[in-house]
Amino acid sequence: MNEIYRVMEKYARMMASQDYSTGVSKLMLETSSGVYATADGADMRCLKESDVEKLNIDKLPIPKDEMKAVVYSQTPYCHLALKKARPFKACLDDMAQVFGHTAYIADGRSSNVSAGKSIGKALKGNVGCLVLRGTDKKGDGNGYTLTMGRSLYEAVVAMTVLEKSAEITFLADKIGGAIPLARWEARLMRYIYAKKYSKAEEKVKTAEIEKGAEAEAKKQETFEPHEQNMRELLVEYGKKLVRTGLVQGTWGNLSVRLDEKYMLTTPSGLDYMRLEAADMVKVEIDTLKYDGNKKPTSEKGLHAAIYKKRPDIGAVIHTHSKYCSVFAAACKDMPVTERFKETFGETVKLAGYALPGTKALMKNTAEAVGDGMGAIMAHHGMIACGNDIEKAFANCAALEENGKEYLDRL
Ligand code: 13P
Ligand code: ZN
Repeated sequence: MNEIYRVMEKYARMMASQDYSTGVSKLMLETSSGVYATADGADMRCLKESDVEKLNIDKLPIPKDEMKAVVYSQTPYCHLALKKARPFKACLDDMAQVFGHTAYIADGRSSNVSAGKSIGKALKGNVGCLVLRGTDKKGDGNGYTLTMGRSLYEAVVAMTVLEKSAEITFLADKIGGAIPLARWEARLMRYIYAKKYSKAEEKVKTAEIEKGAEAEAKKQETFEPHEQNMRELLVEYGKKLVRTGLVQGTWGNLSVRLDEKYMLTTPSGLDYMRLEAADMVKVEIDTLKYDGNKKPTSEKGLHAAIYKKRPDIGAVIHTHSKYCSVFAAACKDMPVTERFKETFGETVKLAGYALPGTKALMKNTAEAVGDGMGAIMAHHGMIACGNDIEKAFANCAALEENGKEYLDRL
């Protein structure tokens, strides 16, 4: 029970660390020793051992066997979607990958005799849905969001990405509307994510349930001082991106130019918060060859293309940050406000759409960056560059701020 409590407490804290309220929330976890849930009304910021209850069931009451965790939440924009009876579709690759193609609204009102069926239908092809529980005097809906995962980590990340997607959908109305991905494409992305991309982190997170949240110990490796320093900087800035809300889950990636021949990149698909200097991957810029047992970011080609084209660039950051993603979802260039013109010029260009990790994405994005300091990536996110990692981070944060400032004025 102690191990289960530690895992539940870790993800309750992760849930509570969002910059919005997650409302009345609950976590459920299925393990080999039974199903556990946080008690009604438990405070996610400081979950106590007595808040975790063992339920009298062997399996979670959901129609998907591989899913071992469920999160119930009431976040602001998912709630608005429920209130306005507005289901929303994946306009960005991250929602397609972690969640599925559509956030449907299931009729879970107690007056509905087929509430279970309605939820089951909404969950087809998706790892969650919005559940209508009732309506207020004005006729506006209310209820909760259900997200699932193979681990609590995945279920909490699905909640975070879904809330971001809901907010982006509403904000994109200001600039012509978000454009959904095709359903087949969203399904393909989900498949690649579940079967391939997320596997390494999923293994670690599943092991936590058996071993406890703090179990993993890594062996220390050291490098020559310049390389060690660059590796530590990448780790530091990766965590900074998480803390400032500029990345969600394992999305996004960072790199620095190590010397004329090599760049250091973050590894692919791993949780930033548990990365160490030795996890960074040294990649040859010209050939994309790398050594060691960690795979570099799937966007290594994109980072390399920028280093090859731009000798002035020493660091590159790619994120799926919220305000930049509004422009990515609407497939629009981002106009630059007065304050940021010196850094970004008149507009930040939209790079044409291509699947993540592909040569087409690399080509389109490097082209859109041109001789500027960043670009928006259609249906995907953004990229920012700088002569060093500090500057690249500052440009990444500035681009996000610019997006917010522009949208706030509309
Ligand atoms: P990696 O985890 O492989 O870096 O991929 C994240 C991403 O955002 C791909 O576009
Ligand atoms: Zn990405």
